[in-house]
Amino acid sequence: MAAVIDQYIVWTFCASLIGFLLLFILRLNDKNESKEDTGNCNIQNDIVKSSSNDGDSSPEHGSRTDVIIVGAGVAGTALAHTLGKDGRRVHVIERDLTEPDRIVGELLQPGEYLKLVELGLEDCVEEIDAQQVLGYALFKDGKNTRLSYPLEKFHADVSGRSFHNGRFIQRMREKAATLPNVQLDQGTVTSLLEENGTIKGVQYKTKDGQELQSFAPLTIVCDGCFSNLRRSLCKPKVDVPSCFVGLVLENCQLPFANHGHVILADPSPILFYPISSTEIRCLVDVPGQKIPPIANGEMANYLKTVVAPQVPPELHDAFISAVEKGNIRTMPNRSMPADPQPTPGALLMGDAFNMRHPLTGGGMTVALSDIVVLRNLLKPLNDFHDSASLTTYLESFYTLRKPVASTINTLAGALYKVFSSSPDQARKEMRQACFDYLSLGGVFSSGPIALLSGLNPRPLSLVLHFFAVAIYGVGRLLLPFPSLKRMWIGARLISSASGIIFPIIKAEGVRQMFFPATIPAIYRAPPVDD
Ligand SMILES: Cc1cc2nc3c(=O)[nH]c(=O)nc-3n(C[C@H](O)[C@H](O)[C@H](O)COP(=O)(O)OP(=O)(O)OC[C@H]3O[C@@H](n4cnc5c(N)ncnc54)[C@H](O)[C@@H]3O)c2cc1C
Repeated sequence: MAAVIDQYIVWTFCASLIGFLLLFILRLNDKNESKEDTGNCNIQNDIVKSSSNDGDSSPEHGSRTDVIIVGAGVAGTALAHTLGKDGRRVHVIERDLTEPDRIVGELLQPGEYLKLVELGLEDCVEEIDAQQVLGYALFKDGKNTRLSYPLEKFHADVSGRSFHNGRFIQRMREKAATLPNVQLDQGTVTSLLEENGTIKGVQYKTKDGQELQSFAPLTIVCDGCFSNLRRSLCKPKVDVPSCFVGLVLENCQLPFANHGHVILADPSPILFYPISSTEIRCLVDVPGQKIPPIANGEMANYLKTVVAPQVPPELHDAFISAVEKGNIRTMPNRSMPADPQPTPGALLMGDAFNMRHPLTGGGMTVALSDIVVLRNLLKPLNDFHDSASLTTYLESFYTLRKPVASTINTLAGALYKVFSSSPDQARKEMRQACFDYLSLGGVFSSGPIALLSGLNPRPLSLVLHFFAVAIYGVGRLLLPFPSLKRMWIGARLISSASGIIFPIIKAEGVRQMFFPATIPAIYRAPPVDD
């Protein structure tokens, strides 16, 4: 018996030794191969390509990171916290970790607030002097109408919030960084690292000029509207219909407290909403990409002579003071339908992936809603290293996100066009019909405002309300006595309404938006690990 045990011990020892030696040699090869791979890198634009014949030799296999997130803006920080809370090891790389000072992302719709609650981030709108937003007030030709969010069925806390974007981002960054498995570093990502068609990680530069690499089986790019990294992951078709000119008004009260204000001005809308207990943000839309220059005073002159006369009297003096104070900021309003090129190991999120006109404050709604979709999708996956399964399964992300994202995008694009002035009589009628339809109250205002607020973002409801406005406009033209001229304008109104909404829906993808259940990717079962 003792001899058998001795033999057993000797064989076990020999087998372990051989196994250990083999492992050592293999690991040595891995290191040499990955060193060679990096050495032979071929940098093309934003992507560093390398090739290897041995899939298992990839550096990301030795990596202890599950996900790299590029950019810690709204999308990146919310995502880092969400995935970190789910136990993923997350490495966030952000170009600038100081508090951002921007005129974007300052109004969070109630639907987004509910997403924050779902993600456990609702406390990030606390202690930043955020203001509750209960709805909108719409102004046209001296008349106004109040559109309240349909919040009756919700807890008293649920409403919109408006704040300084930088304060909100800093709160989310701090919260994400408290998780032990989330590493937040300052650095500028210069390229994605690709090997045999799969993204393996990123290359980035630290503040002190060091070039570093980080590897993970999944890289999520959230580098915002000016993204340099999106080109290899989607087919970007960016349109810039207008720019927003931003001012901060002080020492004044909004005509409707705790409401966003939309002035249907000429040539296009002006927005006001509170961003703290003492400040009101004003965003003036200027159509086109060429705006009056700020430096030579042309912009100030434009604001005083063209815009100020259209501002509600309660805000006029504060508006002029803000212009004279000179802190005028501008931002291009970009729109870009999501058109992904599914790439193993990588995903785009936030404005890097998909943009819409900011008139309706829908950017954060889409970003947060996408994060909820992705979180639920990734939850059953224990290991992201199974790249093929991960890629196949992530394909359904693009379909699952569509109904909400497309509704918000289409609404923003369509409303911007309807709310902008036009010399065309049919468009003028449509604009007036929209104001009057929303002023009817009841379902005529609660339906559209539920879409805009993200509380009920359903594509069919959007199309129904849009064409109800057009038909309402035609009805007003034909009643009580239709004339040939009025019938002609009515026909053109319907044609112009179709010309506004159908191209946007086409760009969003009719099938994905209205019939997502017919797309096979949606049914793919998650490759659950044992
Ligand atoms: C004028 C304007 C007003 C808007 N107002 C609203 C609003 O009221 N409500 C609303 O919901 N939406 C609004 N939006 C849209 C909203 O701001 C965006 O949808 C939202 O900010 C997108 O978040 P993001 O994380 O994708 O991008 P961002 O918030 O822009 O974050 C991107 C981050 O990536 C970092 N980064 C960039 N490149 C790199 C790199 N190479 N390496 C590392 N880090 C990098 C940046 O520093 C930044 O922190 C507005 C947009 C505009 C233009």
